[in-house]
Amino acid sequence: MRRKIIAGNWKMNKDIHETATLIAELTERMKDFRNEVDVIICPPFTSLVLANALIKGSSIKMGAQNMSQYDDGAYTGEISARMLLTIGCEYVILGHSERRQYFKETDELINQKIKKALSVGLTPIVCIGETLEERESGITDKIITTQIKGVLKELTSSEVEKLVIAYEPVWAIGTGKNATPEQANQVHKLIRKLIGQMYSWNLAEKTVIQYGGSMNAQNASSLLSQSDIDGGLIGGASLKSEAFMAIIQAAVEVAK
Ligand code: PEP
Repeated sequence: MRRKIIAGNWKMNKDIHETATLIAELTERMKDFRNEVDVIICPPFTSLVLANALIKGSSIKMGAQNMSQYDDGAYTGEISARMLLTIGCEYVILGHSERRQYFKETDELINQKIKKALSVGLTPIVCIGETLEERESGITDKIITTQIKGVLKELTSSEVEKLVIAYEPVWAIGTGKNATPEQANQVHKLIRKLIGQMYSWNLAEKTVIQYGGSMNAQNASSLLSQSDIDGGLIGGASLKSEAFMAIIQAAVEVAK
């Protein structure tokens, strides 16, 4: 039985004051929470140290939204995997479509970052997904296959076992237009099939695959009830404690 993971990607939102407010609200709302699902927040870099202190004693875990493929050195503006680990990050989002689109990240670069994150013990949340144009041209499966093969290149079975995959159709991110539960589940099944072919069916069955793209309090339950959807990566709705908590509660209900 795969454990459900609900992760909030705050993107470039929340200064340290707003971070403190949101975490105070979240920890208050989660005080009766019994750890039925994994809950992760991914604040911006500037809030991570504070967030780590504020989530102590709660069951919330923390991740970053990006990291460098390099260890250290003359890479102005970059943050390393080890830096993230030493301030309390357990996860790191890699290959988000906004990184691919605005910062020209490729599957090859994302693959390097995944290897680096794993080498220090961070769990990568690896994002893949097709654009609207690609879906409308009927090449979703081809794009997903290329991305999976690219980001997992040369990874061993025991490395893939440590990853979380997030299927995030680009057309659903921040648009208010989520993939239907059936559309999403179909791609999740494809991802599982690819991992089965590349590695083993045993590993495919174990792999946690989140859905991301306009998940909210209204649609969370139907998305999370699908056979192959193991959680959510949530942008907009993770910025308000009430909306994020409603998604966590939907996951708890589905996990029962
Ligand atoms: C995301 O950025 O990963 C995301 C899924 O955003 P939203 O929930 O706002 O669509």
